[in-house]
Amino acid sequence: MITSQILHTTLKENFGFEKFRTNQEEIINTVLQNKDTLAIMPTGGGKSICFQLPALLFPGLTIVISPLIALMKDQVDGLKSNGIPACYINSTQTEDEQQQHIDNIINQKIKLVYIAPESLSYLENIFSTINISLIAIDEAHCISSWGHDFRPAYTNLGYLKNRFPSTPILALTATADKATREDISKQLNLKKPKVFIASFDRKNLSLEVRPALDRVKQIIDFIESKTNDSGIIYCLSRKATEELAEKLQKAGIAAKAYHAGLDAEIRSKTQDEFINDECQVVCATIAFGMGIDKSNVRWVIHYNLPKNIEGYYQEIGRAGRDGLASETILFESYGDVIQLQKFASQGQNAEIQLAKLERMKQYADALSCRRKILLSYFGEIVTENCNNCDICKNPPEFFDGTILAQKALSAIIRLKESEPLPVIIDFLRGSKNAFIYEKEYQNLKTYGVGIETSWQDWNQYLIQLINLGYCEIAFHQQNKIKLTSLAKKVLFENEKVQLSTIKIKEDRKKEKPTT
Ligand code: ADP
Ligand code: ZN
Repeated sequence: MITSQILHTTLKENFGFEKFRTNQEEIINTVLQNKDTLAIMPTGGGKSICFQLPALLFPGLTIVISPLIALMKDQVDGLKSNGIPACYINSTQTEDEQQQHIDNIINQKIKLVYIAPESLSYLENIFSTINISLIAIDEAHCISSWGHDFRPAYTNLGYLKNRFPSTPILALTATADKATREDISKQLNLKKPKVFIASFDRKNLSLEVRPALDRVKQIIDFIESKTNDSGIIYCLSRKATEELAEKLQKAGIAAKAYHAGLDAEIRSKTQDEFINDECQVVCATIAFGMGIDKSNVRWVIHYNLPKNIEGYYQEIGRAGRDGLASETILFESYGDVIQLQKFASQGQNAEIQLAKLERMKQYADALSCRRKILLSYFGEIVTENCNNCDICKNPPEFFDGTILAQKALSAIIRLKESEPLPVIIDFLRGSKNAFIYEKEYQNLKTYGVGIETSWQDWNQYLIQLINLGYCEIAFHQQNKIKLTSLAKKVLFENEKVQLSTIKIKEDRKKEKPTT
């Protein structure tokens, strides 16, 4: 019987920690009882200990399956420096190196082996000769096509349970909504797994969403107000990271770009400079951050809307790992939404990806506490408002927007549901531009009925009308705005529509969004 005392001593002596974090001890206990376990913990929550510590107490070998080849070496070096015999096997090694590790495993000189799923075949030959005590599957969401980071090599892992029915499997992930969670258990053939879900709430992270007007200027202003604080700006494309970094540099900010297309050397240099506080800002694609252990990232900005809430949450989670107050800002633009919808609809699992994007968008457009929305996505019910998001700090005011809604929906009808949002706004505002004249829209009824409302306000109201379900964007058809059946109620049954004024600085109201 392994007591709590033994667990604490092992934690202290081998890892140098005084106490367990949330759920670590419970997970370790379950694993030590040979039960299948699903551990869901936010990034930085301390998942590694959950298999590293049992590995020391079990008689046999612990296999750790991880997709992050780049991080295996660091993890193994860390274990070795704590005196724990560990190795890794992956495709970057020579055959001799691999054979050396296999020999050490056979000779029971190794307690933990990290292996990429593609490389499992190296071990298969010796499966029958070795005693496997635990199989840990890190980043377990990669097995699920419901997840945001599906890896085909993971799909085969289901055979492990059949091959080793009495060996416990510990699946770990930082990112799982309920559907993904159930899918992980199913695909891995886990036997009545014990599920541990640590709270995802990171109270020290403030949440804010801003319209993407003049993003670059907003970002420069923001950084200039935080002279010494380092942060990450996530962009959708490699090109965007480079362009933004250049603009920031021109404004005198120590910024660098980071993406998978850059030389490994440049990437690791940028990473080191960032960690050592020599580079204040990294403009990055989502390739940046996995496994970067920098505790004092003070802010994270999303230059573009993320593809889904899991990714967003993981990315903002890189701020404030030291527990101190940190800021996050997400810029939302109509153009991003359209582009992401296109990507999603062309990729694998289009329907799922589109649905996830839709939830992301709903989050960005939310008119109630954002933290509640985020946490409910991860299955956590919170009743209190957080007071640390832009909505809590500055609640939107609603007004009777029925007339505005009627004008907008009528305009959509007049334009035969065949124009995208910017044209509808120009039409409502009576713009005298070439496109309007070319199509002779100036002669239609309702042309110019919305002239007293700014372009930007119309943009916000129309997005609200879309979110309220009165109209929709047909992104398969050049993003034309179409009415839904609900629109009838507003147009013909006098249904009241509540809209909200989104507070934007007065001087920005007149500008068109830069998408
Ligand atoms: P995850 O894999 O969940 O992102 P890690 O296992 O890498 O997290 O742990 C994140 C950091 O927290 C590491 O630096 C680790 O050493 C530290 N850590 C883990 N458990 C504890 C603990 N019980 N006490 C103090 N620090 C811990
Ligand atoms: Zn809130």
